[in-house]
Amino acid sequence: MKHPHGLTQQILIAMVLAIILGAGAQLLLGLNPWVDEVLDEWLVGGLFFIVGKIFVATLKLLVVPLVLVSLVCGAASLGSGKQLGRLGGKTVGLYLFTTAVAISLAMGFALLFEPGVGANLSSTAQVSINQGSSFAQVMVDIFPSNPIAAMAEGKMLQIIVFALLLGMAVNHSGKPGERIRQNFEDWNVVVLNLVTMLMKLAPYGVFALLFTLFARQGLSAIEELSVYFATVVLVLLLQALLVYPGLLSVLGRLNPMTFLFKMRAVQLFAFSTASSNATLPVTMKNAEQRLGVDNRVASFSLPLGATLNMDGTAIMQGVATVFIAQAYGIDLSAVDLLTVIATATLASIGTAGVPGVGLVMLSMVLTQVGLPVEGIALIIGVDRLLDMMRTAVNVTGDAAVSCVVAKSEKQLDERVFNDRNIQLSDDVAATTEVK
Ligand code: ASP
Repeated sequence: MKHPHGLTQQILIAMVLAIILGAGAQLLLGLNPWVDEVLDEWLVGGLFFIVGKIFVATLKLLVVPLVLVSLVCGAASLGSGKQLGRLGGKTVGLYLFTTAVAISLAMGFALLFEPGVGANLSSTAQVSINQGSSFAQVMVDIFPSNPIAAMAEGKMLQIIVFALLLGMAVNHSGKPGERIRQNFEDWNVVVLNLVTMLMKLAPYGVFALLFTLFARQGLSAIEELSVYFATVVLVLLLQALLVYPGLLSVLGRLNPMTFLFKMRAVQLFAFSTASSNATLPVTMKNAEQRLGVDNRVASFSLPLGATLNMDGTAIMQGVATVFIAQAYGIDLSAVDLLTVIATATLASIGTAGVPGVGLVMLSMVLTQVGLPVEGIALIIGVDRLLDMMRTAVNVTGDAAVSCVVAKSEKQLDERVFNDRNIQLSDDVAATTEVK
């Protein structure tokens, strides 16, 4: 049964309404105590707060079961370890490549537009940013000593490692392995259907999240930082509309317009939640059911991407580093610029895609090139909105790489990819067909 409006349209309508009404509500705040109470306490701090939180929780609750189940299925049907190695190599290689392109573009444009020249340094914002862990620690932390703890804490890379090992063992266990595999395949169907069910909440959740944001946070902060803001947005658009389409058509020989068309719903989820992790169930479902990426590739590359590949975040870091250097009147040498590229690319490996984590990564980059970490206070005012936009780019990058890798591994169903009529919300039946 088709719904008169697909889920994407419903979310889009919810988003536009929320932005208009939320911005309108912001203008009304402070005019009358009664209006303030209704808007601030009952709606923004009450009803919409609850709906928004529940929406994000329902998405997050799916992440661990989905990644585990789906990746065990994927790894169990991958065949040889060699195949997995090749898949891993291609995926990680492309992730690093797209991130390096993103940050290079970002710094190029930032050096051109000079957003930090003449910036006002008297920001009063407080920063308390945790420093990230060392690279060695990040590497060690990838391996779980207790898979249940890893799942309880949602440590994505540890879950990935555990699921891969389990999947490989299933693959080598003869008849018992076959039974377990079948069992996981069944679970996969059930969990994907749960995603479908909970996604129906999306229009309400998106409305609540965005209304709250726009009612609370005016757009005034953007004015002072307009050049910084515009530079980040411009490079985000270039990455989404030129770099990924280029990658898809040159390396994947796939139609980038179809890809972007089918990514809209995922991007809206990412924009509203500002979290690649919370969006992961939607990204995976979309990739498998609408982009035609086989479970073997999607279940591996997308969870990895949500943690490892944050091109939008890298873009913010590139522009922000140049901005802060200019604001403090510090010259960055060519070596510094290369250090920024390397650090920003590597920093993303150990940090999960959750709201605001980009600033933690930025503090690592700033420390690496000797810039004051307090500089983050200058840009924090517009970070939430940029976080939403860069998260949309992050998930687009994950899906683009997944499609290209799937195509090169002959794991992409091009009939599905090219069929623009497949809807995200109406395909419960499709998930019951185990491949
Ligand atoms: N919110 C981003 C994500 O989840 C990370 C960040 O840039 O802060 O992908």
